[in-house]
Amino acid sequence: MAAGGKAGAIQRALADFDDGGFEQRLASLVAIRSTSQDPGHAADLHAYLDGAIRPWLERMGFTVAIHPNPSPGHGPILHAERIEGAGPTVLTYGHGDTVRGLAEQWSGGRDPWTLRREGDRWYGRGSADNKGQHAVNLMALEAVLAERGGRLGFNLKLVLEMSEEQGSHGLREFVAAHRDALAADVLIASDGPRVQAGTPTLSTGTRGSFHFDLVVDVRPGGVHSGNWGGMTTDPAIVLAHAIAAIADRHGRILVPGWLPAAISPAVRAALAGLDLQAEGGAATIDPGWGEPGLTAAEKVYAWTSFIVLSMLSGRPENPVNAVAPNAIAHCQIRYTVDVEPATFAPALRAHLDAMGFPEVQVVPYGVRMAASRTDPANPWVQWAAASMASSLGRPVQLIPNSGGGLPGDVFIDHLGVPLVLVPHSYNGCKQHGPDEHLLVAPVREGMAAFAGLWWDLGESGVPPHAAAGTVVGATGIEPVTLRV
Ligand SMILES: [Zn+2]
Repeated sequence: MAAGGKAGAIQRALADFDDGGFEQRLASLVAIRSTSQDPGHAADLHAYLDGAIRPWLERMGFTVAIHPNPSPGHGPILHAERIEGAGPTVLTYGHGDTVRGLAEQWSGGRDPWTLRREGDRWYGRGSADNKGQHAVNLMALEAVLAERGGRLGFNLKLVLEMSEEQGSHGLREFVAAHRDALAADVLIASDGPRVQAGTPTLSTGTRGSFHFDLVVDVRPGGVHSGNWGGMTTDPAIVLAHAIAAIADRHGRILVPGWLPAAISPAVRAALAGLDLQAEGGAATIDPGWGEPGLTAAEKVYAWTSFIVLSMLSGRPENPVNAVAPNAIAHCQIRYTVDVEPATFAPALRAHLDAMGFPEVQVVPYGVRMAASRTDPANPWVQWAAASMASSLGRPVQLIPNSGGGLPGDVFIDHLGVPLVLVPHSYNGCKQHGPDEHLLVAPVREGMAAFAGLWWDLGESGVPPHAAAGTVVGATGIEPVTLRV
């Protein structure tokens, strides 16, 4: 088995990939209009699991159950498992729902639900977030199964949810209720971008997201701007100043209590030398934006961000000569485990009062996804990084958490598993906007990485069972950049 075993699995996966197997698979998944942000597509959420994923998994020997979401009105949750008995038990995760298609905004005649290859890119809604990512991992699994003669050498459980783009409604309740059935030694999953398209990346957690509205509501209706303008409060102006009190003109956060006390020397060391590039033309990295003195990598992986998602006063589509009655901004904080989200709203209230904005209401929506982080020194993290480096023949960049969210906290809280997150996309992929795409080269490399990971899980040398219990701290992390 050893001779060519792992290399054979990797070669088999890459041969499938190069023969167009992955493209074909991804095209069929993208064609299912499984957006969770439009109630008109509720049937597609079920079709994705039942029509596309279930038969694929059953062919690989999984038993598959599709559960209704414990939170009514949200998409179903697939739970599959393939138990051999011997070896470690791995949990993997993905989501088959997408954001809206936004078809009218795609350029170049592209259609969100028709996968199209252009040069080194595959365009399609869900290509990067998250269909392409879990499809890579499952195709790599198929290759390992074939190479090992229908055996994996470990146990694999899969949770695939269909409401991630609405904040993973019901997932926490589902995982809590199926705690025993989902028990595992480690969670290995893929979502989000690599630190750079060309750099294999392993993340051990996620940033959290906290949402709130700022509301200035001063009168029941608009009043004539000629007769009232200049002597009655304009809520849009008050709101603009309130936002300016939260972050300065260069995006530096001004609210005491929102920021980490410091970036730990270990995190700083892990991110040292990581020179983020703006890839894909999606946006620029503006050196003067955000917290002064931090590198771009530190801003995204080790600090708090404040983002105004949308703001509104009056009717932009039909302005009238009136002083508006109200103004609203929907805002978001992205944060790491180094800060406590329960303090965000009280700290903001105190700050706005101190800055002279008692009339600005903070409507705390609260945490949408909690921050998570596994100690990068955890044996499973180290094992996975070493496996990847050996499969790919080059180093892996370890980061303490990814910039975006993924409901890693749910699995940490209820299952106590360490997180090994291996993203296959890049930050120019335009996920959530028009022209979402996946890059071919990182995906091909991800296919090799996962064929190697799945293979190595069936070999000796995996961390002992007890390693799972020792995990997961919100603090005390000591990230290392592997140079294997
Ligand atoms: Zn998403």
